[in-house]
Amino acid sequence: MFKSIHSRLTLVHAATFGMLLLSFALILYFSMHTVVENTFDKILYNGARNLEFVFFRPPPKGRMLNWIKGHLKDILTEEDIEKAEKVIETAFRKREIGDIMNEVMERVFFIEPVYAQVRKLETDKKNSPGDMEIIARSASLENQTIPLHENTYNRLLEGKPVYEMVRWKPGGSLRLVSLLVYDKEKNPYVLQVATSSEEMRSMMRRLRVFILFIVPILLVLVALGGYFFMKRAFRPVVKIVDTVNNITSEDLSLRVEPYGSKDEIGKLTDTFNRMIDRLEKSFKSIKEFSGNASHELKTPLTVIRGEIEVALRKERNTEEYKNILSTIQHETTHLQSIINDLLFLSQIDSGSVSFSFGELSLEEPLLDAYEENCDLAEKKGIKIILKQIDPIPFSGNRTLLRRLFSNLIRNAVKYTEKDGVITITLNEKNGPQFAISDTGMGIPQQSLPYIFDSFYRVEHSRTDYPHETGGAGLGLTIVKRIVELHNGEISVESREGKGSDFTVLFPASR
Ligand code: ADP
Repeated sequence: MFKSIHSRLTLVHAATFGMLLLSFALILYFSMHTVVENTFDKILYNGARNLEFVFFRPPPKGRMLNWIKGHLKDILTEEDIEKAEKVIETAFRKREIGDIMNEVMERVFFIEPVYAQVRKLETDKKNSPGDMEIIARSASLENQTIPLHENTYNRLLEGKPVYEMVRWKPGGSLRLVSLLVYDKEKNPYVLQVATSSEEMRSMMRRLRVFILFIVPILLVLVALGGYFFMKRAFRPVVKIVDTVNNITSEDLSLRVEPYGSKDEIGKLTDTFNRMIDRLEKSFKSIKEFSGNASHELKTPLTVIRGEIEVALRKERNTEEYKNILSTIQHETTHLQSIINDLLFLSQIDSGSVSFSFGELSLEEPLLDAYEENCDLAEKKGIKIILKQIDPIPFSGNRTLLRRLFSNLIRNAVKYTEKDGVITITLNEKNGPQFAISDTGMGIPQQSLPYIFDSFYRVEHSRTDYPHETGGAGLGLTIVKRIVELHNGEISVESREGKGSDFTVLFPASR
């Protein structure tokens, strides 16, 4: 089910969001719980202080009314003030504390139900705190009593208001604030104001329901949104997969449609297309290579077969047999050299043979190669001039370097006519530099870019020098590979009919 990356990402995304949402909901819930509790506590406390003011410090009738008019003018209507006047009138007439309490409470609290109760505080502790005399209680209490526990009593004596949640007889619990207050004669009382915790509970219940309802809805919306967004974002990847599935070694012409954006997917598409370009090129060159290789191998074999057939057709004299065998020998030598070159190239390309590098003096392999080709040059009447050969320390493989120099010298000899001159230099410029120039047939400009390709031979070297050269177009390919193995560079300049200059620049030894 979660096989695709986009579904897995959606899952991770939804899970992360869900955790965040859940943490947020929990924090919200507990913060709200504290806020609601504090708000209720504040309401109860302020109400209690107002009650205390009215009970125990009743100002003269006129001042009391003025105070109400002055302080509560914004919240009281004309009607309220008239009522207040009557209350004060009644209070002063009857001095009935319970009545005053009920009237004041109607105005002071805006939560319901509210219970208030005043007990006389006995310091001698004849009675337990719960049994201390109740001198007033709000009508809302009916015959119930707000409990006063030992613990609360002790904390009150420290002079601080006590906030608590208490169970009470009618069932449920009360949020309760208890205060220590004094009348004019300094007699202590416990004033307790409470409200049913049901109101708080129902607020928290509503919040709980809201959270339980909204969290899953949000989660589902985020998961769905995430799923569709991810699916869209991964569509180009699906396209790439489809294209890859249709690509075979037979048909590498397919490309992924460019995505048109430079984001990661855009880069992936470009990289993929470039990779297929490279693959197509190398498949093409492998095909060409094997085509060329089979052609080059087939030609001498055909010649050999032809010679044998001619020999077998009828009885020949010794001279004729000698000629035939000599042709066969020549062709097999050619075959062998092609096979050796191919084997050598494949060893370099596959890295199956590791060529050991060591410290040497560059002129040593060069002089070996020179001696190897001297006879051939002499036979052809070509002069080889060693113009400047410096002993240059270098890190390389002696056998490979000898082959490199030898291939270049042999080519120069091969493609130069009698009385031609070959000049060789080895010196230090921006690193060791080997240069060989000849006065031979040169290479046409249009052929220059291809002479390092395998099996490439300039047309006239095939026709003008078929037997003498015996090459298959692999010599310079090998040269280039050896130069690359030594981190060097090879370049060629040539003018047809005038001669060629090959230069190899090796990296400076550190
Ligand atoms: P080959 O075995 O045919 O010599 P190479 O790879 O050594 O193959 O050379 C490739 C082709 O480059 C040759 O066929 C020849 O046409 C040309 N070439 C190489 N070196 C020279 C040179 N010094 N002068 C003229 N042509 C050259």
